[in-house]
Amino acid sequence: MRVLILSDIHANRVALEAVLADASGYEAVWCLGDLVGYGPDPNECVEQVRSLPQLTCLVGNHDKAVLGEVDLGVFNFDASLALRWTRKAVSEETLDYLRRLPEWEQFGEFTLVHGSPREPVWEYILDRFIARENFPLFKTAYCLVGHTHTPVIYRETVPSGDCLEEPPSYARPRALNGQRLIINPGSVGQPRDSNPQAAYALLDTEALVWEHRRVPYDVLETQRRMRAAQLPERLVQRLALGW
Ligand code: ZN
Repeated sequence: MRVLILSDIHANRVALEAVLADASGYEAVWCLGDLVGYGPDPNECVEQVRSLPQLTCLVGNHDKAVLGEVDLGVFNFDASLALRWTRKAVSEETLDYLRRLPEWEQFGEFTLVHGSPREPVWEYILDRFIARENFPLFKTAYCLVGHTHTPVIYRETVPSGDCLEEPPSYARPRALNGQRLIINPGSVGQPRDSNPQAAYALLDTEALVWEHRRVPYDVLETQRRMRAAQLPERLVQRLALGW
């Protein structure tokens, strides 16, 4: 099965549409959470994601914050302002959908969480040391995570139990050969790896091939929509730089 992997769309409809126009030949979609927060189009993004084929969608920390399940004090100032805006902007239908999203899913050899196996919604796997602590906490060969908005692969080395970090390769797909991996596809709607292009991935679960991908989108249009919504200027500007 060919699977489109999305994460951290963050209400950026223009970026989401660019990804959907760029991706092809997939039969299922796995979305790793944070549909909303930061961006100007939460309802439109939720509606669009819901229409995707064979969809599995997880809940992220921003989704939970919009649901009122988390105190906004845990977020930085700009993020909490954007979440306040989002709480006012979302429809009942959007809230109903977000409320039903699971924190953890498993398909064959793939575990899916937003943050990490240790803390599915909250922990950031920011380096190989944090990744190393998480490898014993899932049973499958592969774990897909989002949350950091940075595409990366962590590989467990055997028998040391150590962990190595691999940068994403956009030039050629990566074979998954049974070695245990934690893989982050990067963020559709707010990349933070100094590359403003929308990030996503394609996975072939039978051939066991992973493909990190980037696609440019009309950042200026998303910025225009954010300013019209009076979302924080720092959040507007960061999209152009990818931080
Ligand atoms: Zn996020």
